[in-house]
Amino acid sequence: MGCAGQQIDDEIRVTVAAQACLLLLNRKTNQYQKLQSILVYPSTFIATREVRDDLGLVSTNHIVLLGESWEQGKVVLAWDNVEKSVRNLRDGHNVVLHEFAHQLDSESGATNGAPLLQTRGAYKSWAHVFSEEFEDLQRIAARGGESLIDHYGATNPAEFFAVSTETFFERPAQMKENHRELFQELVKYYQVNPVDWL
Ligand SMILES: [Zn+2]
Repeated sequence: MGCAGQQIDDEIRVTVAAQACLLLLNRKTNQYQKLQSILVYPSTFIATREVRDDLGLVSTNHIVLLGESWEQGKVVLAWDNVEKSVRNLRDGHNVVLHEFAHQLDSESGATNGAPLLQTRGAYKSWAHVFSEEFEDLQRIAARGGESLIDHYGATNPAEFFAVSTETFFERPAQMKENHRELFQELVKYYQVNPVDWL
C-alpha cells in the first residue's frame, strides 16, 4: 500500500518481494505467517510514539525512520532507502532483509531475537551463539570499535538478529570468516549458504 502519495507499481512490488523471499527460499514455509500489509513511503517517514517515562508520564516522540516492522503483521518501508539497499547488495545494509527478519522473529509470539526453530536442541545452540555474539558486539559498540556487524545490532537481541541477517546475506564470506558459529546458525535457520552465491 502506498503512503504519502507513493504509487505502487511492479518495480516496487518485485523489488520488495524478491528480497523478502530470500529469507524463505529453502525453509519449510513459503509465507510470512503474520504479515498482513506492507506500507511504502516515498522517503524516510516520521513515526509518532507515545513513551512512558519512569514516573509514568506519557510524552509523544517523533522519530525519523527508514523502515519498521510491527508485530501486528505490518512492515513499513521508505522506497528511497529500499532503492539504496538494492543498489549495493554487498555493503551489509538492507532495509528489506532487516524488516522481514523482524517479521520472522515475531512468528514465535515475541520479537526477541529468537525466531521459531525446528528442534529443541536448535534453541540451545542458537541461544548460546547469539547471546555470546550479541554481548561481544555490545562491548565493541560501547568502546566505538570496528565490527563487521553494524553497531545498531547491539541495541537489543531483536535488532541483533535483524542486523545479523543483513550481514549474512550481504557479506557472507566475511561473516563466515569472522563469526563462524553465528554464520552456521544462520545457514541452519535460513537453509541457504550465500557464500555459494558469490
Ligand atoms: Zn530493526
